[in-house]
Amino acid sequence: MGDSNDTIFGKILRGEIPADRVYEDDRCIAFRDVQPQAPVHLLVIPREHLISLAQAEQQQEALLGHLLLVAARVAQEAGLNDWRTVINTGAGAGQTVFHLHVHVLGGRPMQWPPG
Ligand code: AMP
Repeated sequence: MGDSNDTIFGKILRGEIPADRVYEDDRCIAFRDVQPQAPVHLLVIPREHLISLAQAEQQQEALLGHLLLVAARVAQEAGLNDWRTVINTGAGAGQTVFHLHVHVLGGRPMQWPPG
């Protein structure tokens, strides 16, 4: 990409700060959230720097599908039968890191609607 991706996830992707990685391939990585909100809390992020889902375009269609398949894979590998995937888009929706990521949360009962 042509940008510096000066987000915390950019630093993780470049190996500048550590992360507890549970999966990686040529398009994405998955690692444990540093402030887990459930017994299992993983993040799946693309290597490509997309700021959020709002920035995604047709050319990212396959990548977005891949992120969801990896989310299911790491959830199952973590032993989950039930889990929640969350993508916060924009600060008003709770996004704090501006590199697209899929949360995978499980291991406790989930409430609906989310806060
Ligand atoms: P969001 O609020 O949807 O943007 O989610 C960002 C997530 O990144 C939060 O759940 C944070 O706990 C998590 N996070 C922030 N820094 C790190 C880090 N260095 N390693 C792992 N997870 C992180």
